[in-house]
Amino acid sequence: MKYVLTLLLMLAVTRIALANTSYTVRVPENPDSIHVSGSFKINSGTIGMYITRSPQLAGGQADLVRNLVVTSAGNPVPCEYTDGGDWSLGGVREGQRIDVEYDILTEHEKYSWGPGIDEVAYRQDDGLFFTGFSLFIVGGHESKEPIDVRLELPPGWHASTPWATDASDNNLYHPRDMMDLLRNCMCMGTHLEESVEIGDFTVVLAIGGDFKARKQMFVDAMTPLLPAYVELFGGMPNASRYLAVINPGSRSDGGAFPGSYSMLISGEVNKTSSAVWGHGIAHELMHFWNGHTLIPASVSDEEWFKEGFTDYLTLIQLSRSGLDRPEITYRKLENLARRYFIAKRLMGGSESMRVAGAQKHQNRFLVYGGGALVAFALDVRIREASGNEAGLDQLMSAMYDEFAARDKTYTFEDIVRIAGEVRGKDQSDFFRRFVDGTEYLDVAPYFDAIGMQMTTFVDEFYLSVREGATVQQSAMARGIFGR
Ligand SMILES: [Zn+2]
Repeated sequence: MKYVLTLLLMLAVTRIALANTSYTVRVPENPDSIHVSGSFKINSGTIGMYITRSPQLAGGQADLVRNLVVTSAGNPVPCEYTDGGDWSLGGVREGQRIDVEYDILTEHEKYSWGPGIDEVAYRQDDGLFFTGFSLFIVGGHESKEPIDVRLELPPGWHASTPWATDASDNNLYHPRDMMDLLRNCMCMGTHLEESVEIGDFTVVLAIGGDFKARKQMFVDAMTPLLPAYVELFGGMPNASRYLAVINPGSRSDGGAFPGSYSMLISGEVNKTSSAVWGHGIAHELMHFWNGHTLIPASVSDEEWFKEGFTDYLTLIQLSRSGLDRPEITYRKLENLARRYFIAKRLMGGSESMRVAGAQKHQNRFLVYGGGALVAFALDVRIREASGNEAGLDQLMSAMYDEFAARDKTYTFEDIVRIAGEVRGKDQSDFFRRFVDGTEYLDVAPYFDAIGMQMTTFVDEFYLSVREGATVQQSAMARGIFGR
């Protein structure tokens, strides 16, 4: 009896905790706008949205909020927009419960956004895409308590979210905490939703438009990769259930969140164009490890590692799995070299790769292209020193082991140290010159070392296999590309 009582009390406490923060999203039949109601406790006199930079909207997503009304226990609370997505409340105290009601105009695609609209919100013929950041006005992001989110949709619509539904209510979701709510994406509409089991993962696919008929191609692209990534890092990422949103868009782009990723694909989806869409999917999946499980202490300083290394590892994993033919892999390597050359020599960037990460979308060529070339050069350096026994794979699994598996963040110095350990020789000079410094990394000798030839004329780059490559050189190339 005592146990039953304790259990009942626990349930009661859990129930109260669950209701601490709650939101209801109401979507009408033709959603020019949607309505959001929220109830939460405030920890300051300010509420707001975590906004994404847009050149046309100073307040980002908050500029599309209309009719905001704030009350507390039924009484109006004075509320005034300040800036940067914040509203200042009058006459409130810390810990006070407030209720908010507001509309959001679904016209995000009229504007441009720093990381791309795939990481904000958009409307399609068959539904709506939203990130939590673009949907919810909150009192802060620190709350670790579970949240109730109810989605009320038009008849025939369904929602795809990274969160499991309530056992007794299909429209009710329970994000783990505030960050889980905000740093994720969801889809509401008549899109295709299907759950697929891949190895130890459950991937919830949400596919819109004409791409519904291409579902199997997306599944086939992910199937060899997820187990290969587990092997590469030597462990699982933080979650094993992910939402994958794939929609047609005017330009191809993608973004990964801790429990979901978003892809927009421009043009056809077929075997030939998989060089773009397949690469995008593989890149975003890799971020579940490198970015959301292996996490830098300073995100902007280590974008070269988060984005550049992810892109290089994506390239070699696609080659090893056979998803990319050798010609595609070579062209991707040529593209990396070209991007880096353009950033360093033609665009006159004078910042280091690390500093450039603060504006990673503007400095895409240097951060992604340069970061990936650093990864390649390091791969070759480690292989040369270890007689091809180790490579970048060992660097990544050592990083996973020391940081991801122990829930610790890593620093630049940690990467330098572990690279030295894996190579068996101090690597700080290499990182100081090309990553922390601004020297130009010439990759031709690294291609020579693996029996390949990079021929260059200004911004033209041609990669080919060298005739007469030695057995050791070819073995290193096989170690990297798997053939
Ligand atoms: Zn990325």
